[in-house]
Amino acid sequence: MVDYNKAFETAVDAVRTEGRYRVFADIERIRGRFPAALYHPNNSDDAREITVWCSNDYLGMGQNPAVVEAMQAAAGKVGAGAGGTRNIAGTTHFHVLLERALADLHRKEAALLFTSGYVANEATLATIARILPDCVILSDEMNHASMIEGIRGGRSVKRIWRHNDLAHLESMLQDLPIDRPKVIAFESVYSMDGDIAPLEAVCDLAKKYNAFTYLDEVHAVGLYGERGGGVAERDGVLDRIDIIEGTLGKAFGVMGGYIAARASIIDAIRSYASGFIFTTALSPVLVAGALKSVEILKASNHLRERHQERAARLKQILTEGELPVMPSVSHIVPVKVGDPVLCKKVSDYLLERHNIYVQPINYPTVPKGTERLRLTPTPLHTDDLMSALLDALDDAWTTLKIKRAA
Ligand SMILES: *Cc1c(COP(=O)(O)O)cnc(C)c1O
Repeated sequence: MVDYNKAFETAVDAVRTEGRYRVFADIERIRGRFPAALYHPNNSDDAREITVWCSNDYLGMGQNPAVVEAMQAAAGKVGAGAGGTRNIAGTTHFHVLLERALADLHRKEAALLFTSGYVANEATLATIARILPDCVILSDEMNHASMIEGIRGGRSVKRIWRHNDLAHLESMLQDLPIDRPKVIAFESVYSMDGDIAPLEAVCDLAKKYNAFTYLDEVHAVGLYGERGGGVAERDGVLDRIDIIEGTLGKAFGVMGGYIAARASIIDAIRSYASGFIFTTALSPVLVAGALKSVEILKASNHLRERHQERAARLKQILTEGELPVMPSVSHIVPVKVGDPVLCKKVSDYLLERHNIYVQPINYPTVPKGTERLRLTPTPLHTDDLMSALLDALDDAWTTLKIKRAA
């Protein structure tokens, strides 16, 4: 007899044994008061106030009054859901306007919305591989799970190049016939280490070896470039990237994903990608909120500048406090713990003793031995909040005897 229950329990036991069993913190965001939130210990109805230090709502746009108002107005005007797939009654005028705004943001002819950034990567990469005959996908080894799944789903040949290693990428390109379709798939900001890919150099290689470029800018859209068009905008290479993929759920503060590209590419993905075709369109309420957010961040650099200043400040005070801040050239501030059990312990300690919430980041999200706290300061994290964080970390590092920076 098959013991079905046992199989599931054994699977979870394995995760527990490795110290990577995940417990979700039950929190309630408080409208307009980010990064403050209410925490419900053990999913109880009791709640106490905490400060969130690990949100991907990088600019607090999810609490921006104009964004919330746009969503309320949309719900009041058109109701809750889209009512169908894009093809069957689900394309609202909000979808059309947002795709237009996203195409413009990335200086592309067209854009296509998906229900999440994950789905955008998975559906698009799988579809590209089916459209380009006999193609080879060259994937950076640190690419996100959604890209890996998409590449797997496309069933093409895949080669993995060492993270941000141009020489390794070039050696792979050299080995392939110039007329064989090649797709270079990579990210701009890698969100766990906070490093940034050399976009221009990758584009140079793509040109030299006649390759197609697919760039995930999920952790950069809204945050880099004069209008929030990402690192490709900042580095002046928007026109050299064939497909740019982004999310509406991180810096834009709402939900959804998209790609932007030449109209012919968008039309093909729209026509073939199962993950786009056979699913209910995003709620127009979400789309209206995202549209407002994109418009606000296009129009002003103010939040982006404050964001960078806050990240630099946090890195500085933690470094001065001899905490092991890992090198990062972006807005991400990783602090190394180096052990999964200890990493969970320090996170619990910060929440219980100091009302500070920062989720432990363990394997398989990061390599074993590099377990860390991943801090994401936003424009709304004040100097006072930073001092409180420094004191709390200092206490945790001392009490739990964690290794300090040299
Ligand atoms: C979060 C993430 C995604 C998925 O985006 P969602 O909109 O959250 O589904 C894709 N790529 C990278 C690199 C990510 O970190």
